[in-house]
Order: sequence, then structure tokens, then C-alpha cells
Amino acid sequence: MNIVSRITNLHLRHPFKIARRATDASRQVVSVEIEGSIGETAPARFYGETVETVRFALETIAPALKTNLDAIHDVMMAVETTLGGNYAAKSAIDMALHDRLGKKLGVPLYQLWGLNPQKTPCTSFTIGLDEPERMAEKTRQAEAYPILKVKLGTPRDIEIMETLRGVTDKPIYVDANTAWTPKEAVRKIRELAKYGVALIEQPTKPNDLAGLRFVRENSELPIIADESIKRASDIPALVGCVDGINIKLVKCGGLLEAYRMIHVARAHGLNVMLGCMIESSLGITAAAHLTPLVDYADLDGNLLITNDPYTGVTLDKGKLILPNRPGIGVAEYSKAHKD
Ligand code: MG
Repeated sequence: MNIVSRITNLHLRHPFKIARRATDASRQVVSVEIEGSIGETAPARFYGETVETVRFALETIAPALKTNLDAIHDVMMAVETTLGGNYAAKSAIDMALHDRLGKKLGVPLYQLWGLNPQKTPCTSFTIGLDEPERMAEKTRQAEAYPILKVKLGTPRDIEIMETLRGVTDKPIYVDANTAWTPKEAVRKIRELAKYGVALIEQPTKPNDLAGLRFVRENSELPIIADESIKRASDIPALVGCVDGINIKLVKCGGLLEAYRMIHVARAHGLNVMLGCMIESSLGITAAAHLTPLVDYADLDGNLLITNDPYTGVTLDKGKLILPNRPGIGVAEYSKAHKD
């Protein structure tokens, strides 16, 4: 099977910083085309993938795509047998196969899964790390979004939250991106709870599940795992350590595995957030089709860039509005804005 791939530089509206990484001004994604259908992935170095490893993986995987492409389960199993890891690359293929099947059947993705498009949640909008005053300014600019996700993980965390509460009373999710020790996390979460924070994402190191459990047992806010969780098979070990998980297509290998993870998480009594990387409206819209099944959506990657090549999912006061065109349902931005 021929897979056409292309690298796109997405330019960020604001330089983007989180606790464990330097500031980025742009981010690269890889888009793929299979039989006229499309997918996209945003590889993360943290998970050992780059645009180069994605392209190499796509070349390696392509010969495995010779079975009936409608049987996405079978195809993705063949892909898994051909090449381990490389879940960002696999996510792009999985996405294009879902787009293809939706188009072939003439239905949007949410309908493939029998989901109610009215049941989408509001997405949160991310405020990256910066000087407290700059973060307050970005918060003011985020007026259109009813829920904020604030990146923390610095010595000034409480000062930042105090400054932000001076300019907004919206619900706030906090993401520490692995920056705190367990004891530090307990101390900070106690303070943050006073500022009406709704949940805490990944307070501690990814592999320190005992640390997560300690934080959860000593904190009143819900704890959501992100860097600690990639695939469905990681979920049982997290039971008792967290209250929920953040699923991302590029971590787990695509929509099929994400769907599986949602149900495995539910079976273990966990809440579910569907998150993203810096992605265009192609990747974000594909993920958005699954959101009628989740508690929290953090699908703002397309809102953080200035050169989105696509239009797809839109927002109504923050609520995700799914396109009802077949497949993922995105259009190229230039074509959608011709008139
Ligand atoms: Mg996170």
C-alpha cells in the first residue's frame, strides 16, 4: 500500500513552554494520505518519536497494509506485528483508515461508533508556562474558552495561581507535567485547592506509581495520569493511583486503541480525559469524534497555532461541535475559505 506523507510546520501563536521542556515557537506534524483519505500525527521526543522516525516507520509499515483496509482491527494488528512501538506513526495510519471507512460508508466517525454528537464536552484551553503577568494576559485573551488548563511545575506555582485568580473565576485544570516530588505535590495541591482548581494532571514522575498513589491518597483534588499512561494495557497498574487518565492518539496508536482505552478505563472506575499535542484541525477533529464518551476534553492544539491547514471541529462557547461530513470531516482551509 502506498502511503504519501508530508511534514508540516505548525507555527505557535505564543511560544509554548511546559515544566520539562524548553520553549517552542513551532512544532512539526506528519500528515499521511492512504487512498485519498487522510491522517495526521504529532510525534513527541518525550515518547522517543520524531518526524524522521515517523517517516521511517511509515515506510516499514506500508507493506503490511495489504489486507482488507475496511477491517481496521485486522490491519492495525498486522501493523503491530510488523513494527513495535512507534505509536505516533501508527496513529496517523489508524486515523486515515477511519477516515477512509467513514467516507466509504458515507458517515461521520462518531456515527461509526454509534455516538451522540450532542454529548461532546467543552474543551479546555491551555495557558503555557510564562511569567505570572504574561500568563494572566494570556488568560484574559482566552475569554472565549470556559475552561482553562494551566501549565505549572515551577517554584512560583502558587504565585502564578494567585495572579490568575485575579483575572478569572473559570474552572482551571492544572498540569504539572511530572515536575513535582510526591511530597511537594501534596503540599502544592493543598494550596491550589484553595484557588478552586478542578483537577491535577501528572503531578509526579511517569514511572513512580507509588508516588502517584501517595499524592492521590493525600489530596482532595482528582489526579489524572498523562505521562504515566500510554495504552490500554497500562491501565490496571494505575488503579488506586489516580482518578482518571488522559488519552492521546499519538501516545496510544490511534482511534481504535483510544476507544479500547476508554472502555478499559471505565471498567476500572476511572475518569477519562481526551488530550492532544500541538496538532492541526485534522488530528484534533479526529480525536473530537470520540469525546461524547469522555469526561474531559483537552483538544486545543489547533487553537494554539496560526497556520492551521484544515477546518473541522468548531466550538460553541467552548463546546466541541463535530462536523457531520463523512469520515473525519475536515476541509482544507484554503478551499473552505474560497469565497
Ligand atoms: Mg498533560
